[in-house]
Amino acid sequence: MIDQKIIGVDIDGVLTDESHPNDNIWHDRLCQYLGKKIERARDVYNFMEAYNLSSDVIDGFLEEHLENIYSQVNPAPGAKETLLQLARKDFKIYLITARNSRYHSLTEGWLKKHQIPYTTLIHEDSKAPLAVEKNIQLFVEDHAETARELLANNIQVILVNKYHNRYLKAQNNLVRVNNWEEIRDYIFKYFQL
Ligand SMILES: [Mg+2]
Repeated sequence: MIDQKIIGVDIDGVLTDESHPNDNIWHDRLCQYLGKKIERARDVYNFMEAYNLSSDVIDGFLEEHLENIYSQVNPAPGAKETLLQLARKDFKIYLITARNSRYHSLTEGWLKKHQIPYTTLIHEDSKAPLAVEKNIQLFVEDHAETARELLANNIQVILVNKYHNRYLKAQNNLVRVNNWEEIRDYIFKYFQL
């Protein structure tokens, strides 16, 4: 049995619902901003590369829409219920996001509005060293490069399948999932609940 139960959870693409690459709030708002329907050019994480757009266009878009997206995006189905179950089992839940810390209160407000339980919300781009420092045993993430760094530090990663992380190869301590039902099942198995 593992005594301490400490997990890390990413926000965007994990707690938020971005299920379909061409049918989610980011894509919709980008089309709205450009005034036309566009298709993703490449299956990558980086927005400019994904849409073949210049950094000026992307910066303008984010300037105008980012705050609104963060406040309007829906939570992923089942996320709240799973985290509630874990909170009742005395899990320490670190929400660790690369969002700029200027969005801290907005993010807190979103979490409160959707009744998502957590222990601490931290803004950090470099997640692996922080995860080590906080004794995080398992991390739910969708960004392949962050996952790679966590894995290099022997942290169990639950990777939420996304078009942009397909390239990360199967390896020890990496499990891929499609939804929060699978996330919950794996966490229960991992901590022998
Ligand atoms: Mg993410």
